[in-house]
Amino acid sequence: MHHISPEDLALYAMQVVTPEESAAVRLHLHRCDPCRKELASLSGDLAFVALSADQQPLPAGARDRFFSKLQASAGADRERNQASVVTNASRRANTVATWVPWLAAAALLILSVSLGFEVQRLKVELQSRAASSARQIAAAARAQQVLEVLSAPAAQHVLLTAAKTSPVPTGRAVYLPARGGLIFQGNNLARLAEDKTYELWVIPASGSAPIPAGLFRPDAAGNATVVLPPLPVGVPAKAFGVTIERAGGSTTPTAPIILSGAV
Ligand SMILES: [Zn+2]
Repeated sequence: MHHISPEDLALYAMQVVTPEESAAVRLHLHRCDPCRKELASLSGDLAFVALSADQQPLPAGARDRFFSKLQASAGADRERNQASVVTNASRRANTVATWVPWLAAAALLILSVSLGFEVQRLKVELQSRAASSARQIAAAARAQQVLEVLSAPAAQHVLLTAAKTSPVPTGRAVYLPARGGLIFQGNNLARLAEDKTYELWVIPASGSAPIPAGLFRPDAAGNATVVLPPLPVGVPAKAFGVTIERAGGSTTPTAPIILSGAV
C-alpha cells in the first residue's frame, strides 16, 4: 500500500483538494496509522502558523483568487492523473509546484510576525530614547539657567560676613575635574592698575605646575567671575590660587598669592 505524500496531506489539511480526493485520503487515513500521524503533525504546523500570525483582513476577493489558483493547479494535475491520490513522479512534481505558493505564503506570514516583533521592539526603544533625551534637555536647561545667573553682567554678587568686620577679598571656586569645568567668583577684590590683571590658577593634586585658569578684573564693586575657562579634562586639583600678573597674563604664577584655597 502506498502512503499519501506529505504534500498531498498538506493540501488535504488546507482543504484544497476535490471531494473525490478528499474521500480517497479519508479512506486511506482510516486504515493507516503513519499517515494519520503525519496529518496530525502537518495540521499542528498549520494551526501554529495561523495562530502566530497577526490576523489582517485580506483585500476583497484575494482569498478566493488565491485558493482558486491552488485549485486550478491541482485540477490541471488531476486531468493527467485520473485514477487516485497515489503519488507518481509527475504528480509529485506538480503537487510540489502547488505546494510552493503555500510555502511562500507561510514564510511571509512568519516573516510578518517576526517583523511585527521587531517593530514593537523598535517602538519601545524609541520611547525610552525620547524619555532619556527629554531628561537631558531639562538638565541642560537648568544648567543654562545656573550659568546665566552666575555669569550675567547685571548679576549682583553680594558677600555676607559677620557684622562690623571690614570686608576682605574672597573667592569661591566650583570645580568638576571630570569635565575640566570651573566657575570662580571673587568678591571685595582690590582695584588694579591698568597694566595689571588678576589670574586664576588650578594647582594639580599630582604636584605638576599650576595651570592658568583665566584672567579677570573686578568691577567697581570689587566683584569678578570666571566661567568655564579652557582647562584640560580629568585633572584633580589640590588647591586654587589667584595672583596679580601683568596685563595679558602669565604662564607661571607670580608671588605673592593674593587668594588661595585647598580642595
Ligand atoms: Zn499511509
